[in-house]
Formats: sequence, structure tokens, C-alpha cells
Amino acid sequence: MITLKSPQQVDRMREAGKLLYEVETALREAIHPGITTNELDRMAERMIRDAGAIPSFKGFEGFPATICASPDDMVVHGFPDDKPIESGHILSVDCGLVLHGWQADSAFTAPVGEIPKEIQELIRVTEECFWLGAAQAREGNRLGDIGYAVQEHAEKHGFGVVRDLTGHGIGTEMHEDPSVPNFGKAGRGLRLRAGMTIAIEPMIAKGDWKVYVKDDGWGVVTRDHSWCSHYEHTLAITGDKPEILTYHGPRVSEDVQ
Ligand code: MG
Ligand code: MG
Repeated sequence: MITLKSPQQVDRMREAGKLLYEVETALREAIHPGITTNELDRMAERMIRDAGAIPSFKGFEGFPATICASPDDMVVHGFPDDKPIESGHILSVDCGLVLHGWQADSAFTAPVGEIPKEIQELIRVTEECFWLGAAQAREGNRLGDIGYAVQEHAEKHGFGVVRDLTGHGIGTEMHEDPSVPNFGKAGRGLRLRAGMTIAIEPMIAKGDWKVYVKDDGWGVVTRDHSWCSHYEHTLAITGDKPEILTYHGPRVSEDVQ
């Protein structure tokens, strides 16, 4: 069931989103060779709880941590651990929280030290995919417009769009309807309405898009072990431009607010 949110409810989600933006900004700044993903996890949990919020991933279907920490060829759902991260790799961090009953969900991929140019490009294009998809999240457009914009941009660069996982509606639950695929046909699918709140989250692989789930039942890895980038924000569809609830930095796109 799709729940439409009132402007007051979107205000609450923006509060949650602002806190998550602060947490993820701090995590980004903390990522450097030698730090462990468990240290990042503890930092995120402390910031979230100190602000009176709850980490939404911890305990969700048994997930053990506040962040998902997914290096290199792992797409999503990696467990944080005590291994220091090394220069030349990438790390995808996904985090979610609940503040006063409202959810925020956001992810990014960061370089650890120096990384190859083509991997920098993978990260940049993945973020561009998000902003292009978000620009389509307008009242009257359709879900397929979002997926098409993401897919077209990724594939134009020769990258693979992971299909097994999608974005999603979000509100008082982390995962609500509808599912928001990163691929699709323009002009097809569910019609978007003001008051819908969704997470758009392109997962883009340097190589093929096919993935498998690790033996731990969580970690999702590309079958060809090509590296993968992830970028996600929670946003609200309005009567005007979509509003990104988990991004509060310098303006990236004229097509969103
Ligand atoms: Mg997420
Ligand atoms: Mg999500």
C-alpha cells in the first residue's frame, strides 16, 4: 500500500533526513586508510542515539549493525568488521534512522585514499544517475521515468545496473510500497503523486549487473566481482520540484530542491 504524506509529515521526515545527512557527512570525513568499519559503525550509532533517534538497520530482520559497509565488489548489506580499510579500495556505506517515528535512508560510496580514474568515474556516474532519476520524481510522471533515467545514464557509460535490488517507498516503515527500480521504460508504470516519499538508490557495477548473496545470507556481491557503487537519498514528491530529504549540501541539480 502506498501512503501519501501530509506536508507536516514530510517536515518530520526532513528532520530525520537532516540528522542522517549529518551522520553520513561525518562518516565520509572519517573514511581513510586504517580505520575499521566497526569504528565507523560505532560512530554512526553514537551520533544517532545522541540525537534521540534510533538506528533503523540494527536488528532489522536480524541485521547486526547501524551501517551496511560494503567494499569493492560488494553491492550492499555488508557487515562492518575490525579489518582496517586500505588505500586503493572503495567503501559503500548505507545508513538509516528513525526520528520521532519517521524514517530516513541514504547511502554513498567513498574512495579510500587514491583510487583508479575509472573507479572515480563509476562513483561519479552513479551519483549522476541518482540526480537524473530524482529529477524525474515529479507529480504526473511515472515510476518508469525514474528507472529509465538511471539506466540510460549508467549504460551509456558501459556500466551495469543491478536489478535484484531496488529503491522503495519510505515513511513510518523503512520499506514501503512502491518498489522503485533503477531500470525501466519511460512513460510506464505507476503514476507519481505529491505526498509520495521514496528512496531512489542506483547500484551501478563497473561490469555485469548480475549478483549473488554471500553465505552469511546478507552480503550482495557482483558475480563477475566488478566493483560497484551505490548512492541513495530519501525524497518527497511535491506539486513542484522533488525535495531531497537526506541531502542538505550545496545544490547539485537545478531540477530538485
Ligand atoms: Mg539504504
Ligand atoms: Mg533504501
